[in-house]
Amino acid sequence: MHALIVHAHEEAKSFNGAMTETAIRTLQETGHTVEVSDLYRMRFNPVGGKHDFTTLADPDFFKYGVEQTQATSNKTFAADVVAEQEKLFRADLLIFQFPLWWFGLPAILKGWVDRVFAAGLTYGGGRWYSNGVFRGKRALLSLTTGGPATIYSPRGLNGDIETLLFPIQHGMLYFVGFDVLPPFVAWSVSRSMQEQRAEYLRAYAERLKTWQTTTPLPFPTLDQYDETLQLKPGVSD
Ligand SMILES: Cc1cc2nc3c(=O)[nH]c(=O)nc-3n(C[C@H](O)[C@H](O)[C@H](O)COP(=O)(O)OP(=O)(O)OC[C@H]3O[C@@H](n4cnc5c(N)ncnc54)[C@H](O)[C@@H]3O)c2cc1C
Repeated sequence: MHALIVHAHEEAKSFNGAMTETAIRTLQETGHTVEVSDLYRMRFNPVGGKHDFTTLADPDFFKYGVEQTQATSNKTFAADVVAEQEKLFRADLLIFQFPLWWFGLPAILKGWVDRVFAAGLTYGGGRWYSNGVFRGKRALLSLTTGGPATIYSPRGLNGDIETLLFPIQHGMLYFVGFDVLPPFVAWSVSRSMQEQRAEYLRAYAERLKTWQTTTPLPFPTLDQYDETLQLKPGVSD
């Protein structure tokens, strides 16, 4: 199997860097191939816009999603977008490696999603969620935080981590059809003792050894929603 790690940290010696190194080594040792989009090193432009396309379908009125759909049909995405889309389609496992910034993705990684998960190519025409383009493939968030686990517990000050990650795990990854694995979170890495950090890396390696058999998050399937796109009575959310 083949994995793509989209890595969003500028410092190679950071803990995020150590997590990506751990992932590469573990996945390769367990027989998989790996490629990495190291977004800062690539100087990836995270701002979606007209430069995403070699030609515009409507030069008089720019509408990003419409242009993405047209570019899918006409194969007119810019080279940097095409390169990432090809990596995405090659992957059986997609990993986002990032530090939690403002309760979400660093802008460079959010922009990667904006530009690469293009309309028409990765969703549209009834292809979404359990009928999504990437169904049968798996995705994993691997992240570090500044705050401790308790502050992200269901009654914690910052709110439940599962709620914070919902826009990414459900709104991006499951939206395009991935089975989303439970996230791996290394809490408060800057304030952790060295031994705790080493333990995080060991635990992450163990998690990656079972990525093909780990039970994904139990997001409902499309047939569990009614015609108004609300969960049918009796289906738990
Ligand atoms: C703009 C911004 C917004 C933020 N928003 C939030 C937020 O909303 N919520 C929140 O909780 N936090 C937030 N933070 C904090 C941020 O999430 C943390 O600073 C980040 O997760 C720490 O990860 P790092 O890889 O940068 O750690 P680093 O500081 O790089 O690493 C931590 C320690 O691990 C050491 N280390 C490196 N490699 C290894 C190794 N192999 N083994 C053991 N130790 C190693 C490093 O030397 C360092 O001492 C924010 C920070 C910024 C800048």
